[in-house]
Amino acid sequence: MEKERKIDMHVHSDNSPDGTHSPMFICEQAVKNNLRAVAITDHCEIDSYKSQRYDSAIFHSFFETNKAKVAFQGQFLVLAGIEIGQPLYDVGLTENIVTSRRYDIVLGSIHRPEGFDCDIKEIDYSRLDVYEFMRSYFFQLEELARCPFIDIMSHITCPMRRIQGKYKIDFDYSKISDATDRLLLAIIENRKTLEINTSGLRQDMKRTMPDTEIIKRYKELGGEYITVGSDSHNAYDVGCGITEGMLIAKKCGFDKLSFYVNRQILQIDNNV
Ligand SMILES: [Zn+2]
Ligand SMILES: [Zn+2]
Repeated sequence: MEKERKIDMHVHSDNSPDGTHSPMFICEQAVKNNLRAVAITDHCEIDSYKSQRYDSAIFHSFFETNKAKVAFQGQFLVLAGIEIGQPLYDVGLTENIVTSRRYDIVLGSIHRPEGFDCDIKEIDYSRLDVYEFMRSYFFQLEELARCPFIDIMSHITCPMRRIQGKYKIDFDYSKISDATDRLLLAIIENRKTLEINTSGLRQDMKRTMPDTEIIKRYKELGGEYITVGSDSHNAYDVGCGITEGMLIAKKCGFDKLSFYVNRQILQIDNNV
């Protein structure tokens, strides 16, 4: 049987506020861990772009990732990516960032939902109707799926890190299946790729984002493109959970995995 081809499409370097290691060190570890490709996708939060000096962070991320690209050429694929938080907060700025450099892959995320002046992880979910909250979150993601400047819909069930992980609130997706379907259809119609984010497997929630049932539904509705990312914030977590993510994709009927070079979608066999 052909060797498993692990690719990790969501990795943070020390150019993210919460990242630890340089792109070069991350790539060295990734090669040791037998990965075939890694995308360095540092944070760029559009709503705090100026105050948090993301202009400088993403410049360094891109520059250092390109150095690693050259260093590992022919051995291992290094992709220059970015994770844009709240792209719709300023679409013009998002366009400017994405088109001013030759990115391979652009992740879109919502870390700070509308109506909240804090990050998703700082919200007190015990005081909220979590079903209403997730309905609204999915609605915002539906809008995000229509944004032409992103390729990947990252961790679409991100609030579950806290809702299920920290607050231990059971969540029954069948109660918001209409909102979930609308979001998945928006992803499909706008030819975006759904990410299986494996960071939840090593956190309290102990599951991928999104859950298997949503990935399965995406396939049933006609979803074709899927990518797997560890969302690692240090070099030793690169590739973590990728095999599990590939297995879930396979179980849901995805025989191919996606990645992007120069923002063009490419696919490889999911031979897990
Ligand atoms: Zn994120
Ligand atoms: Zn991330």
